[in-house]
Amino acid sequence: MDELKNIAEKAKDIIITGHMRPDGDCIGACIAVYSYLHKFYPDKNIKVYLENVPERFSFLDPDRQIISNILPEWQPDLVMVFDSSSAAMLGEAVKLFRSAKDSVCIDHHISNKGYAKINFIDGTASSTCEILYGLISDTDIDSKMAEALYMGIAFDTGVFRYSNTSRKTMEIAGKLIEKGIPFWDNIDKCFYQRTYIQAQLLGRTLLTSMLLMDGKCIFAVITRRMMEFYGASIEDTVGIIDQLRVTKGVEVAILLHETGKQEYKVSMRSNKYVDVNKIATYFGGGGHKKAAGFMMGGSVHDVVNNITEHIEAQL
Ligand code: 5GP
Ligand code: MN
Repeated sequence: MDELKNIAEKAKDIIITGHMRPDGDCIGACIAVYSYLHKFYPDKNIKVYLENVPERFSFLDPDRQIISNILPEWQPDLVMVFDSSSAAMLGEAVKLFRSAKDSVCIDHHISNKGYAKINFIDGTASSTCEILYGLISDTDIDSKMAEALYMGIAFDTGVFRYSNTSRKTMEIAGKLIEKGIPFWDNIDKCFYQRTYIQAQLLGRTLLTSMLLMDGKCIFAVITRRMMEFYGASIEDTVGIIDQLRVTKGVEVAILLHETGKQEYKVSMRSNKYVDVNKIATYFGGGGHKKAAGFMMGGSVHDVVNNITEHIEAQL
């Protein structure tokens, strides 16, 4: 029997969840596990809780299994968390996580210390979906699950472009393609299409970006005023940081997203040398060597100064 069935076997009420502002990897993993457990244990009470799922991933959940509000009567025996580097990143779901008798965490963030009772953490895996594939038998994977897992892997590897893409990643993706999924169409829909608003916001952010440290660092700010002007949501900012990162000569890209008065969600990406996870962890966040984030208060000037000090120390 595979690892996942072993864990789920004893539980009756199961909650599947992941980090706040769920991304493609997190959503893909939750949906794949839900389909899987639901297929093998139709009598178990299994629920998926995630904060609002971006529209472009909704095709993975045609039956609308994902619930975005926690009901007071939920009393899970087992909470399964995916792609969440810490308990704090679970957001509202942390209460369910703490109240459950059993918990399992499947994740690939190097900053993850193993906060659940059972942990499958592999910082060398491209994505949570890649780890998950290894915990279930290939023969049990149907095309719906394959679509979700493939999407998760594609998301976290920047469609197989980032250095976290390994031979194993490609082999797993190949196995998933064999399940007969419309991967080309899904990839276009999820990663390359932009709404008009998204294109405008991207253009505006690039126009107002600034180079620092002799062009080794680029930073940009997305203010609440900009968001209001374009009628944009946080989801419309996806991909902007990646565009900043591929600016020639840049080693580190920083994107500040204004979330409140003098409060910013900071996203960082690096190309070769800088370990942005170290910097993010220092400021109370986390992530991966080349992609990390955290929250910080203060003026844009203060935030950027604080971060560049740490980048300079590493270069
Ligand atoms: P993004 O910049 O796309 O929001 O996040 C990049 C990576 O850093 C993701 O893997 C994400 O999990 C991690 N990350 C972003 N913000 C935070 C944070 O506030 N805390 C922690 N622990 N990780 C974060
Ligand atoms: Mn991930």
